[in-house]
Amino acid sequence: GMPALPPPTLAPRRKTRQIKVGKVLVGGDARVSVQSMTTTKTHDVNTTLQQIAELTAAGCDIVRVACPRQEDADALAEIAQHSQIPVIADIHFQPGYVFAAIEAGCAAVRVNPGNIRKFDDQVKEIAQAAKDHGTSLRIGVNAGSLDKRLLEKYGKATPEALVESAVWEASLFEEHDFHDFKISVKHNDPVVMVQAYEMLAERGDWPLHLGVTEAGPAFQGTIKSSVAFGALLSKGIGDTIRVSLSAPPVEEVKVGLQILQSLNLRERKLEIVSCPSCGRAQVDVYTLAEQVTAGLEGMEVPLRVAVMGCVVNGPGEAREADLGVASGNGKGQIFVKGEVIKTVPESAIVETLIEEAMRIAETMETT
Ligand code: SF4
Repeated sequence: GMPALPPPTLAPRRKTRQIKVGKVLVGGDARVSVQSMTTTKTHDVNTTLQQIAELTAAGCDIVRVACPRQEDADALAEIAQHSQIPVIADIHFQPGYVFAAIEAGCAAVRVNPGNIRKFDDQVKEIAQAAKDHGTSLRIGVNAGSLDKRLLEKYGKATPEALVESAVWEASLFEEHDFHDFKISVKHNDPVVMVQAYEMLAERGDWPLHLGVTEAGPAFQGTIKSSVAFGALLSKGIGDTIRVSLSAPPVEEVKVGLQILQSLNLRERKLEIVSCPSCGRAQVDVYTLAEQVTAGLEGMEVPLRVAVMGCVVNGPGEAREADLGVASGNGKGQIFVKGEVIKTVPESAIVETLIEEAMRIAETMETT
């Protein structure tokens, strides 16, 4: 038959130039990539590689590791060699580590010019070393470490200040004909952050790395990042994203992927369409939705599963989905592609849905 049209997005992607972060392309027509950062001591190579493996399994595209000390810089070569996904070294203060990371074979280096004193003098050599090794860079401007001159000029880390800093630093590299970098202008306030990225997007075709810094614990951080990234991605702005949470990094990846899936920037995988429940519910929808979600976790096929508390909207939604249940009278009507295939007692709803999901998944994989 006809190949299915890709699902619609809210806006075409902004045309940015493309760079390479190891095997992952960032910018241009490359899909928006998801990043996270390890929380282990980088010099503890085995633990760090273990966490990178977990992030890879969760769907992370690119991983960043902190590099605060010499022993961390020394560990980069082994990490870069054994990681399944491209590794970015995160360097704040020591220009020496930038060269170490490039020589260690890191896919990219994140530099924070605001934190590297005499940065301007180093640019030429950094650009040359990066060119020689095919390493890309991220110019990472942060509200918390904004250049002192700009802080004085603007009084605080305004969107204008963040953008002026980024554009200035970009120009230093461009003067040396180095263009393989992306830019971030992070702030903890989603409003400031969104304004900064919008302004920056007007100033050049650099690929942009989106991030809200210090977004907070999982609940708040998820919402702050989702709102901010949503505002930008819905206008086509953003080439790679990192959700910052005070939570295990695998959670950051899950949230990042879910944001992209919500906007049709990634193929939707398992999607649970469950109702919020209300006074009409004839079943404990929360528990049912949780059990179905847990039972189907990790399914790699795009499957919409509806879990509805009653038969008012229940059958309608359940029909729209690949699979669904509408509950009532202690029973569950199980729908597959719009047809009631059976009615089971409430106690058998979860296992029946999981069974049917597995069956549908198999037919999807073989077609
Ligand atoms: Fe309420 Fe039924 Fe709608 Fe769920 S499906 S929210 S129980 S009316």
